[in-house]
Amino acid sequence: MIAHVTLEIALRKEFDYFIPPELADQVDVGSRVQVPFGSRKVLGCVTGLAEESARAALKPILKVIGAQTLVTPKILKLARWIGEYYCCAPETALKSVLPEAVRHEQANWRERLHVRALPLNGGMPKLPARQKEVWRILEERPELPLSELLALAKTTAATVRRLEDRGLVTLAPEISERDPYAREHILPSQPLPLNPAQAKALAAIIAAMDEGAKSVAQSPKPKVQGAPEAAVQGSAFEVQGSMFDVRCSILDVQSAVPASAPPSGIQGPKFEVQGSEFPPSPRSSTFLLHGVTGSGKTEVYLQAIARALEQGKGAIVLVPEISLTPQTVERFKARFSSGPLQTLVAVLHSHLSAGERHDEWHKIRQGRARMAIGARSAIFAPVEPLGLIVVDEEHEHSYKQEEAPRYHARDVAIVRGQMEGAVVVLGSATPSLESYYNCGKGKYTLLQLPERADDKKMPVVRIVDMRQTVRPGKAVPIFSPQLKEAIARRVEQKEQVILFLNRRGYSTSLQCPLCGYVAECPNCSVSLTYHRHENKLCCHICAHVEPVPAVCPNEKCRNPAIRYSGVGTQRVEATLAKLFPHARTVRMDSDVLKRKEDYRRILGDFRVGKIDILVGTQMIAKGLHFPNVTLVGIIYADLALHQPDFRAGERTFQLLTQVAGRAGRGDIEGEVVVQAFTPFHPAIQFARRHDFESFYAQEMEFREQLKYPPVGRIALLTLKGRNEEKVKFSADYLKQELQKAMVGIKDLVQAGPAPAPLLRAETYYRYQIMLRAQRMAALSQRLAVLIRSLTLPDDVTLAVDIDPVALM
Ligand code: ADP
Ligand code: ZN
Repeated sequence: MIAHVTLEIALRKEFDYFIPPELADQVDVGSRVQVPFGSRKVLGCVTGLAEESARAALKPILKVIGAQTLVTPKILKLARWIGEYYCCAPETALKSVLPEAVRHEQANWRERLHVRALPLNGGMPKLPARQKEVWRILEERPELPLSELLALAKTTAATVRRLEDRGLVTLAPEISERDPYAREHILPSQPLPLNPAQAKALAAIIAAMDEGAKSVAQSPKPKVQGAPEAAVQGSAFEVQGSMFDVRCSILDVQSAVPASAPPSGIQGPKFEVQGSEFPPSPRSSTFLLHGVTGSGKTEVYLQAIARALEQGKGAIVLVPEISLTPQTVERFKARFSSGPLQTLVAVLHSHLSAGERHDEWHKIRQGRARMAIGARSAIFAPVEPLGLIVVDEEHEHSYKQEEAPRYHARDVAIVRGQMEGAVVVLGSATPSLESYYNCGKGKYTLLQLPERADDKKMPVVRIVDMRQTVRPGKAVPIFSPQLKEAIARRVEQKEQVILFLNRRGYSTSLQCPLCGYVAECPNCSVSLTYHRHENKLCCHICAHVEPVPAVCPNEKCRNPAIRYSGVGTQRVEATLAKLFPHARTVRMDSDVLKRKEDYRRILGDFRVGKIDILVGTQMIAKGLHFPNVTLVGIIYADLALHQPDFRAGERTFQLLTQVAGRAGRGDIEGEVVVQAFTPFHPAIQFARRHDFESFYAQEMEFREQLKYPPVGRIALLTLKGRNEEKVKFSADYLKQELQKAMVGIKDLVQAGPAPAPLLRAETYYRYQIMLRAQRMAALSQRLAVLIRSLTLPDDVTLAVDIDPVALM
């Protein structure tokens, strides 16, 4: 037998290897293998099997990694879609579907010595005190890791060895799973009785899940026999003839789907023939759950997951990395930690050690954890069969990966749901315009939770016009009198305050008032931020650091009175210390949180009331639920409005609504004070009224006019290199090639090349071309073809971003 292998080194093609007889029963489509390549040994993934190869003298596969195939056929298929739709090489797409720890076998199961009590033959011998104590523990827990036993009995291994000598216990190495949440004390939770809006939403979701389950029962074998060939040929993309060959798609359907599983996505040739358009053809199994903050979306997710488990299926829950707090994880673990639907809940995120990640992932692969919760890449968790995918805070931009493959996990979720017949629930208090638009188009079903679940009122939002605080010749104050008064009152009443400013550091720029000199990063086109704690100037793009000059660095000026301007969180903190010397203030931004425990510790302190005022960046905007927070202050609401990005208004609306949602989660009504220099901007005004629909309506007018997403689709091409002339030249060349390649694409608008809003980043100059079109499939198909034939100078690289979320 021959295996087609896609190698991890970027080559955009498959290579054939011979499968040695001793590995024959271990190699399958999806196996991770080590193969010789030239003089090296490289890793790759088996993407197809064949009887023979067109090539002679094949080299053998050296080694198979992992006991089970790591990439299941379904995930392989998803990777193929990603490669096609996001215009990236197959090996790049494949790389993203397995965690590093699993892919490179960085970690393995951990073995530890376990002690097991043996049945007593005859009477209990008389034991010395220490051994007796150990035995007493073993009577309660006849089997446990040695280290735990020693800690409980406060003794050494020698004592246990004595018991072993007496034939009372055995000591043997056993796999001991790492559990990143072992130290959390999780109390089981019961489903809450739902309010009418929740019940209605859940009923719709469950109906779709039952529908899916029914259609499987009726047609256990999807009818694709014969179809795949035509389908694959007709599909939008074929890298090297057939990347994951036809055999592989057939295999995908015939052997990989147990009879009880939902049909794999190819429910007819339609999906394939359509190519890689997103969203896929209209279906009723994607829901957008639009519920205000605190409306009980999570309870709906939990009960829908319970249904999936009842059906013998699993679920994936995606949450933004930033809200993957122990608090969130616990809510899911607590519900499924006991009872008839008990299952392990695996957690996948970047703060775990390689070993923990290995174990969590394999618990899913082995089917022991039927629920996975994690950030972006958890969408590739090998949960099978999959009944439900939840994408919480679906509007979050962190779901988009900013390096190749530049996939959007929410969109991948929808495609995966379609492929595997799973229901997808997107949830948000501030849906993305894309998702809301897709509801309007009938592609997703809109479900609404208009009120807070626990009868708590939405907080009152007051907007303070900061232009009124400006006094001639004086710096603009950080706090308006209204906000100052509100803080004083809340602190006085022993309530808690959150202050939000999405900018780190002390001052955002250092300027000479005489000659106009501004301290800029030598590597990036941004000014340096002054950090007072470290007494340094820092670049927030590339992390460049330099000392603070005592006088203006301009040779001809040398003015000793340089001026700092712009406010960051450090300065807010310092000013608070002066204004409210008795309040306990803590700052939370990425400068403070150097270690992962810091985040937990600060939130823990805040929860138990050891902190009065929490100052922070977007890190504190999401998902936190603190009943005693009655005031949220937004220092500078227009900050995000001034970004050169057509989504600036949308982002501002989302951020303000989310931050405001942190107030009044307990018994006392909450209030929000928003300071702004453009108080009448619609994004601010609609956020004040918690009025998403009106914001949507007005924002869509502007998108419609310019055919920006969600009305049109965007592909952003960024060229970068250290030599600006070369980058510019390459961009012009690309523009000409694009004009040839894109002939006939409907409604295509090509803008640029133009310098990126952030022209220089980390010493690289960047130029962009933006393509807009009605639909994406044809566009990305042409792009993929063009990229393969494009010859750019060695030191200029091209990044293709399909459906970008950031235009910087
Ligand atoms: P969201 O996810 O929409 O922000 P949560 O699920 O966190 O909202 O719910 C907010 C609060 O309301 C939580 O404390 C939750 O326990 C409570 N809650 C949710 N559903 C109900 C319900 N049906 N009855 C009573 N309380 C509920
Ligand atoms: Zn820099």
